[in-house]
Amino acid sequence: MSATAPPIQRLLFPLATRFVAGDSIPDALRAIERLRDEGLATTVAALGEDIATVGDADRTRDEYRRLIEGIAGRSLSANLSVKLSALGTKLGDTGFVERYAEIVAYAAQTMRDPFVRVDMEGSATVDLTLDAVTRTFATHPNTGPVLQASLKRTLLDVTAAVARGMRTRLCKGAYAEPAEVALLGAEEIRTNYLACAALLLRDGPFPAFATHDPSIIREIQQMAQRFGVAKDAFEFQMLYGVKPDLQRSLVRQGYGVRIYVPYGTHWAKYFRRRVMERRENLVFALRSLIARER
Ligand SMILES: Cc1cc2nc3c(=O)[nH]c(=O)nc-3n(C[C@H](O)[C@H](O)[C@H](O)COP(=O)(O)OP(=O)(O)OC[C@H]3O[C@@H](n4cnc5c(N)ncnc54)[C@H](O)[C@@H]3O)c2cc1C
Repeated sequence: MSATAPPIQRLLFPLATRFVAGDSIPDALRAIERLRDEGLATTVAALGEDIATVGDADRTRDEYRRLIEGIAGRSLSANLSVKLSALGTKLGDTGFVERYAEIVAYAAQTMRDPFVRVDMEGSATVDLTLDAVTRTFATHPNTGPVLQASLKRTLLDVTAAVARGMRTRLCKGAYAEPAEVALLGAEEIRTNYLACAALLLRDGPFPAFATHDPSIIREIQQMAQRFGVAKDAFEFQMLYGVKPDLQRSLVRQGYGVRIYVPYGTHWAKYFRRRVMERRENLVFALRSLIARER
């Protein structure tokens, strides 16, 4: 990492590398290769939320252009994950849609597997995100949204995505949301996840089930069998460094598994989120650091 980074960041960086591939494009490319060698596919995210200026938003787009060139330059196969906030949703104009569409178009021109996933952020951004994805998808089908089972509206959004033929990633949802829009109980979210998964499995093109929840994974495997959906017609997705044994075990069983690989100099906030989600992640990170030092 850069020698000019603040001392606290330099101290924490070795810990964060359990969950973040590194702070540069070469680090991300090495992670793609390492995971590929273990049979795992990847979707790469340049970390850089909360931008404040048009210049920051342009820099995010330019970083994705360099990432695309890096992936294509090494003849690798990887998808991209982008957050529209990092491309300027809060700047008060529609520039973020153009920057996102430029990434999608450049990926389509340049990459072997040019799929660009748009991460879903807080509930207040769902309409704006789905609108941008739907408009871009109309001219570039190599893009698709994420939908969150914790939101009450999501079954309808899944139905619409399926009708449009958009490749969708389903997740539980990572944002704290008010009760008016969100299901708050774990069991309710699980039930909604499975209802959405059933729709996607039956009729959605190549759905992605992002979860580390073994019981949901089991249910999806059983559902796929019941519906006669082949193992290569959908994939599981998990976060870099989370439940690596489960990731590899699914690969051994013949399922497609794609790992969300974040990298970049803005890694501190992402690492903090992983630790806040699960305090044990600090212990996991320390353990992997000690194992590497041995
Ligand atoms: C590939 C991918 C993409 C995602 N994209 C989005 C997105 O665009 N928008 C969004 O809102 N959310 C996104 N998420 C986050 C998601 O919404 C959940 O917050 C997160 O995955 C935890 O939910 P879970 O299904 O794993 O179930 P949980 O019930 O939270 O976890 C199941 C089990 O997995 C383990 N586990 C789960 N998460 C972690 C972790 N971080 N560290 C260590 N162990 C863990 C725990 O042991 C837990 O018992 C994404 C998740 C993944 C895997």
